Amino acid sequence: MADPLVFLAEHNHEQVESYFDRATGLRAWIAIHNTKLGPALGGARLWKYASQQDALLDVLRLSEGMTYKAAAAGLPHGGGKTVILADGQEHDPAIRAARFHALGRFINELGGRYITAEDVGTTAADMVEIRQSTRFVMGMPVEKGGGGDPSQMTAFGVLCGIKALAEDVLERENLAGVRVAIQGLGKVGMALAEYLMEAGAVVIGSDVRPEVVEAVKIRLKMQTVDTEAIYDVPCDIFAPCAMGAILNDQTIPRLTCRIIAGSANNQLAEERHGHMLRELGIVYAVDYVINAGGLINVSSEWTGYNKEQAHAKTANIYHTIKRMLALSREQGISTQSAAEQMALEALGEERALAS
Ligand code: NAD
Repeated sequence: MADPLVFLAEHNHEQVESYFDRATGLRAWIAIHNTKLGPALGGARLWKYASQQDALLDVLRLSEGMTYKAAAAGLPHGGGKTVILADGQEHDPAIRAARFHALGRFINELGGRYITAEDVGTTAADMVEIRQSTRFVMGMPVEKGGGGDPSQMTAFGVLCGIKALAEDVLERENLAGVRVAIQGLGKVGMALAEYLMEAGAVVIGSDVRPEVVEAVKIRLKMQTVDTEAIYDVPCDIFAPCAMGAILNDQTIPRLTCRIIAGSANNQLAEERHGHMLRELGIVYAVDYVINAGGLINVSSEWTGYNKEQAHAKTANIYHTIKRMLALSREQGISTQSAAEQMALEALGEERALAS
């Protein structure tokens, strides 16, 4: 495991704070990576970490990732993140609410340099609790004036990216007959499957939850395969919509697709796997570029949520993906290098933020 203090020294974070609230037992880290384009935005993750070191490393990595994601999406936000150390006590509703009130107070002390939102382990209801002590929180439910669950917008953004990729890589004007294998039929995967089927694509899905697989078979009349078999499905596009690190030494040689385009975060197990894909002639739609719809939706709340505007901005992922492909082709670089270059350009940086 990387040493978090070495990572911190090398990755130019602006501010990193450790919090402990004695009254509620809340333990959390907040990292603000970069605020050049606007207040840092990034969700609050509630997770059981083995150690404080693991939590610190996670918040540092995730907050930096948010800088790139917001910049590549053209948002007026920087990158930040909260991680909260789960200890089991958060299952008690009263303790949970009190901890989120305390977190809101800590976020408030940052004076608007950081805005939080929902992430793994937290819910829109938790954001409502945070709102009691700070206005620097987004991802509120629709009935509270927020954008609600961003999954549909994320799926729409992935669809827009897939259209650009199909035109560019497969030389197809539309998605009729294009075969897409979706890994994970949760909130985003299911919505994406529906969009794709509406567009005439042939969709094959998989999920670890048997009840989900049964439900899609009945509702969408979709073909499904066992979890492990999804990597071997003959297809044009592989869409990872479940977990991270699924593009690795074991899975990449099995893929038959020409394109990888899905919503999952951190799809590459290691950076070298992006180069490996390029050598195999597989075009990788960089995760933080194609899955930005959810962030765009959340970010829209900052100026008063407007669904049409969020939708229009998300549709722009089509053009961002086209630009990423053109840069990669013109300069003979991997798509992740092209995406990084685009993000750095938006930030006005000439070299990688991480030295
Ligand atoms: P979700 O929890 O609703 O869905 C994930 C699905 O994947 C679940 O149905 C789960 O059973 C399934 N799954 C887990 N492991 C699997 C495996 N090995 N094989 C097949 N299926 C498996 O989550 P979601 O909100 O749909 O998000 C999906 C991915 O997209 C996550 O990586 C998430 O971080 C990322 N993402 C989501 C959003 C959003 O707006 N929800 C935005 C950006 C990125």
